Amino acid sequence: MFFDTHIHLDQFSDEEIEQILQQPNLESVLAVATDLASCERLLALKEQYSNLYIATGFHPEQVLPSEKEIEKLFDFIAKNYQKLTACGEVGLPYYLKLENPELDYQPYIDLLERFIVASKRYDLPLNLHIVYEDTEIALELLAKHQIQKAHFHWFKASDDTLEKLLLTPYFVSLTPDILTNPKTQKVAQQFPLERLLIETDAPWQHEGFESVEITQQLVVVIKKLAEIKQLPEIAVAEQIRQNTQSFYLTQ
Ligand SMILES: [Zn+2]
Repeated sequence: MFFDTHIHLDQFSDEEIEQILQQPNLESVLAVATDLASCERLLALKEQYSNLYIATGFHPEQVLPSEKEIEKLFDFIAKNYQKLTACGEVGLPYYLKLENPELDYQPYIDLLERFIVASKRYDLPLNLHIVYEDTEIALELLAKHQIQKAHFHWFKASDDTLEKLLLTPYFVSLTPDILTNPKTQKVAQQFPLERLLIETDAPWQHEGFESVEITQQLVVVIKKLAEIKQLPEIAVAEQIRQNTQSFYLTQ
């Protein structure tokens, strides 16, 4: 059985969501939010599908919300935290900054810190959009607030930064780009199997796959990971299942 630890389920149609959640061998998914409307939609879906796990947050690769919307987001978390499994997707706008080097980063860092504080208050693991040099900013904030559970989704970084993350207890997840991306293959090589999770970031279009075919995508990640770790697929799948269980599904 497979578990997708980072999917934008609310970006699919109702029919597709139904199809995804009924896929054989898909135990469940952790659906991450991109803004307040997304959080609300995911909560409504959770009421419909009892086996669905949801996270709330604000995707950092977009214009910052107004202070009013930020307040509403944190009110939402305060009101619904018992139905939440994580805080995410939250992080820093690395790619937005690449496009616009003048982007003021501090308000994004401040918002991330507010999410970190909320995740600590409500005992929710963090599902992070943090890549490359931003890892150093995130690690400082996580250390400052003594965060135990942080998951860096689709992690990529230079060798130096990867080394720094390796020294922490935090987790990273692999997507189907492990098939072709040497950076993701390197993450898979360097991280111990016990700190790896799998995800699709669907509906992200991974080459050669239909976005709705979640199980198929997770299976290839396991296959490639087994090849990299030189372990039997079944052992890798079982360890990843246990990692997901202990990281997200047990308090
Ligand atoms: Zn995402």
